[in-house]
Amino acid sequence: MDKCNRINKIDICYHPDLPLELPLEKGISQEEAIRIAIDTLNVQKRVAGTVSGEQVIYPKDDTFYVAWKVAVPLINPVEEWHVFLEFIGGNILDILDALLKATGRGRVFIPNPVVALGDRLLTAESEIPDRAYTDVVLNDLDKSGYLKGPYVDTCTTPNRAKEPDLIFNYSRSDPGFKEVMAYYHIDTAQRYIQSLGFTNLCSKTIKVNVQGDFVNNSYYNPDARELIFGTWYIDDAQDADIILHEYSHVMLDEQVPGFGHNWNTCPIAEGFGDFFAACFFAEINGGFNRELMLRIRDEARGLITQFFL
Ligand SMILES: [Zn+2]
Repeated sequence: MDKCNRINKIDICYHPDLPLELPLEKGISQEEAIRIAIDTLNVQKRVAGTVSGEQVIYPKDDTFYVAWKVAVPLINPVEEWHVFLEFIGGNILDILDALLKATGRGRVFIPNPVVALGDRLLTAESEIPDRAYTDVVLNDLDKSGYLKGPYVDTCTTPNRAKEPDLIFNYSRSDPGFKEVMAYYHIDTAQRYIQSLGFTNLCSKTIKVNVQGDFVNNSYYNPDARELIFGTWYIDDAQDADIILHEYSHVMLDEQVPGFGHNWNTCPIAEGFGDFFAACFFAEINGGFNRELMLRIRDEARGLITQFFL
């Protein structure tokens, strides 16, 4: 109804005269319906909380079925499925995603080929073999076919990647690869932060442009809530160390707006970003990143000592 109480639209879900025979023979029990639903989804180990069933009339292909609707909540990742089964016999009629979110797949570096391959001598021109890549799950995509979810949206990237089947398997020469890197690593870092108990620290969506220019480095624009990754030499978003460094600027800015933008706070903000990324990936490839960071620290100390003495 509008402001003057005039009716503008009627939605009706009422179906008169259903051509439906109420089953006289006994159908399957609620427990059995739940068991079939869980077996069909093959998610025995991921069930979270109570799986419930209710009896419904379910329309499909011009036929109305007496059915069980079973709601199955899951964790790792969080999902909820509604399974509809025929009351008689328990045949599956439909399986629907109740959260309207989807799980995609992609390939990334964790965090970069130097660490993944344990080879410090790689250069921008090095051939990167397949084993440098890791297959990963991309959580909570919104089904648009874009890399868009609760914490990351690559919407400001020009010619952004679109895959209707949500399979984003690129190699690094493909421009879409950097978007997968940004989506996966920011989403993973945010979930880690939440697992520590910080549930509203950058828990909103940030926009990401992985195709910044080659003059500027990567940076965060707090007014637009946008991260921009530079493309000079090796593109920044090909390295998750840099992605997490930049994301740490978002974390700090959310707590103290403008933190890192003056000479007093800048060194702390830059140091925190590097420290966060180094710790996050410290144990990858048998602790290669940790050992490498320690060696670089010692080398830097040596240089500084030489310089000042
Ligand atoms: Zn920085």
